[in-house]
Parts: sequence; structure tokens; C-alpha cells
Amino acid sequence: MAESSQKPHAIMFALPLQGHITPTVNLAMKLASKGCTITFVHTEFIHQMLSKSSEVDLFSEAHELGLDIRYKTIFDGFPVEFDRFLHFIEYWETMLRDFPARVDEFVGKLIESESSSAYFLITDTFYTWPAIIARKYNLVNVSFWTEPALVFSIDYHLDLLRENGHFPCKDNVEENINYIPGVSSMNTRDLMPYLKESSITTLVQKIVLKTFDDQVKKADFILLNTVQELESETISALNQEQQNYAIGPINFSTDSTKPAISQNLWPPTDTKTWLDTKPPSSVLYVSFGSFVQTSKEIIQEIAHGLLLSKLSFIWVVRKDIVSSNDTDVLPDGFEDKIRDQGLIVQWCNQNMVLSHPAIGGFLTHCGWNSILESIWCGVPMICYPLLGDQLTNRKLVVDDWKIGINLCNGESVTREEVAEKIGINHSNGESVTREEVAEKIHNLMSGTVSDGLRMEIKKVRTILQNALA
Ligand code: UDP
Repeated sequence: MAESSQKPHAIMFALPLQGHITPTVNLAMKLASKGCTITFVHTEFIHQMLSKSSEVDLFSEAHELGLDIRYKTIFDGFPVEFDRFLHFIEYWETMLRDFPARVDEFVGKLIESESSSAYFLITDTFYTWPAIIARKYNLVNVSFWTEPALVFSIDYHLDLLRENGHFPCKDNVEENINYIPGVSSMNTRDLMPYLKESSITTLVQKIVLKTFDDQVKKADFILLNTVQELESETISALNQEQQNYAIGPINFSTDSTKPAISQNLWPPTDTKTWLDTKPPSSVLYVSFGSFVQTSKEIIQEIAHGLLLSKLSFIWVVRKDIVSSNDTDVLPDGFEDKIRDQGLIVQWCNQNMVLSHPAIGGFLTHCGWNSILESIWCGVPMICYPLLGDQLTNRKLVVDDWKIGINLCNGESVTREEVAEKIGINHSNGESVTREEVAEKIHNLMSGTVSDGLRMEIKKVRTILQNALA
């Protein structure tokens, strides 16, 4: 390594998915604002997408503030035109096999060419290669977990789940789990679907096994995008086993000189003009995040439910929201029928939407960023989890913190098609009817249930604000 200076230097790799990019970028901003030098690495493909969706240079905010963020890109092995979302499994299988060597070469060259007093390697916990790179280049190995501590703790204790016959967990079996340190009794139905028997050979399970049986335990410490006061028992119990720090909520800032930033993979549509015409707390925001897919039937029931509710809404209907190639997912004539009742967009600036005074509720898939953003803006939720951590996150929102309600209490259905595409054979999503949708929207937006949720979310919001103060 070349001659040292006093400034700590972190090399950061974000996972190339929207829900991981935003917290990792904001972590970079926060560390840089504390005086660290950051080398921030996106894949070339993500760089192209971000550049197309925004006219502003990536990290321009950081540079305006004089923060030392050096932005670099790395080739992920596929041509730009290859659709990484459509060919998700092929992409990630190849990444698992080939990406570590590319990272190795990249880090080696960087270290040779630059000087710094200390090097940290900060990578998303879902990466399966940091330990070997950190050891080779003598870097402090920091694992960044973008989901709640509860989900981390469940994954961390795969051995306990195995001993108790809950990993792999039998499908459709409901049993209590009361043996994970710091996790109050929970039901197996709230486990992440990738821990289920039907997911045994899937890509996500393979990644989780690789990271939690091996990588995570070799990290020098873990950073968790959560708040100590929200998950204190889980975090404290984890600290008995491995050093970790709850550093959330990372996507926000109370200091206008150090703004939180969004890097959008898709260009956002203007929603403010429409929202400005609506009374306070009158509009429902509906979004299933950047990635999950559902069936056309469910989208159509939600559409009819929104119409039935007669309440105003903004709905993010991504082009790939359903797993089939069907691009015509909404009911016939839906956009004519809704007239001014609703605004349909393919992507928006979610933080701007949620913080608009006209927004009164959020129908969400329970992605962790979406939950934190909703709490930050004091917007109660209707939960419709589909995959991964979303099912477990739902428990926190509805059962533990009481700041949201379930969309449906119906029968479990398997959406093979959806699940198979992203490498999970089983999804615990539930079937839903338009009447249920309309009823839950009314419960969320007004009345006694709504009042209770609003009272509780104020308390949780204060916890988030205090964590940043
Ligand atoms: N998001 C956005 N505009 C949209 C939909 C989503 O900016 O139209 C952002 C949202 O604010 C959040 C992220 O995309 O930060 C989605 O992350 P989350 O963890 O909620 O879900 P995921 O996409 O990972 O399933």
C-alpha cells in the first residue's frame, strides 16, 4: 500500500437493486460528512440506468458540500442491453461465480494506486465474497444490512432454526418460534419465504446460506439500517454474538446542509401538481416497490377496490408489475373510469409523495425502505407483503408497532409463476378481493382504526426522528 494519510478511507459496494442502492448511497453520504474518504462503486449497468433517469450527476450533492466521495464503476460481466431483471437467475448465478474475481482485481488496483491511513471494505450483507477480499488486502470488513434487525437475527440463527426443525420450514405449517435470542415469540408463517421447504434449491436461499453460514460471521462488525429503540432486544442479543451498530434510519436527514439523497433507477413522474389539488390526508399512495411482481388478477382486484373506495389515490404500476409479459394489466377502461380520482405512474419520487400533506395512507408491499419512509412521514400503512423480508417486516408494522393493518386475512395462495421467476418457489402472498381492498382502505383513511394507527405512528416517528437528532 502506498504512503498513508490520516483520513479513513472506505470502499463501498452497493447491491445493484433499488432498495439496496438508496441506503448504501446515504450511508456513503453520512460517512463522508463525518470526514471519511469514500470510494463508492456501482456496476456500470446501474450507472447507465441512474444516468438515464436523472440529469443531475450522481453524488453532485456530495461534491457541492465538499464531501470526498470518489465515484467509480465496475463491469458486471454482461452487456448493457442484457435485461438483468428479466433474466434475474442467470444474472445472479453468474454474479455469484464471476463477480468476486472482478472485485478482487478492482480493489487490488485501487489500493496500489491510492494512499490512506486505513481501508474499510463496506459491502451489502447479501454479497457472498467480502471476507476473502478483506483478508487479502487487509481491510476492515464491514457488512451493511439494509433490512430490520429481526430479519437479520432470524438469518443469523439458521443453526437454531435447523435444530428446531424450522429450517427448512415445512410449508403451510404454523408453529411458534421462541428460541431466537432477543426475538419475542413469533409464528413460522412470519418467516421469510426463502426459509421454507419449497425454496430449498432456490437462488435466494443459496445466497442467504452462503452469507449467513459463512461470510457474516467473518465480518469485523455489522451496520444495521434500523433504530436501537425500535428493535432494542434483538439488537442487544445480537451484540452478545457479534459486534453491530444500529445506524438507521439512514435514508433521511434533519440537516439541510447534509441532505439525504435518492438515486432513482427510473425517471420519476411529477406528482406534486396533482397532489397540490387534493385536501390534506385524503389520498392513498399505492406501491409495491421496485422489484416484486404479482399476478394480473391481484392487480385487477386492487384496481376495482380502489374504484369502489371512491377515495383519491396515486398508484405506482411498474411496467413489470406482473410476471407474465402482459403489459395491459389494469381492467379495461380503468384510466377513463378513475378520471381525477387517481393518478397512475410508472415511478415517482416516493419520499416526495409520502411527505406531501395530501397523503393519508400507504398500501405497501412492506419493503423495509418503504416502511421507514412511511414512518418518517407519519403515514399509516395497509400491508400486502409478497416476498422475502416483507412477510417478516409486516409483523413489525402490524403486530408489534400497530402502525398498519393487513390487507387480507384470507387463504394463502402459491403464486408459482411469480416466485419462480425470481428464484423462490413459494410465495406466502394472499388472495384478495376488491371488497376487502375497499374496506381496508376506508379503515386506514378514516374512523377509529385510523385514529389509533395515526396515534401510534406519531410515537414511532418520534423514535426515528430522535435517532437522527
Ligand atoms: N421507490 C421510489 N419510487 C417508486 C417506488 C419506489 O422512489 O415509485 C423507492 C422507495 O422510496 C424505496 C425503494 O424504492 O426507497 C424501494 O425499496 P423497498 O425496500 O421499499 O422495496 P424493494 O423495492 O426493495 O422491494
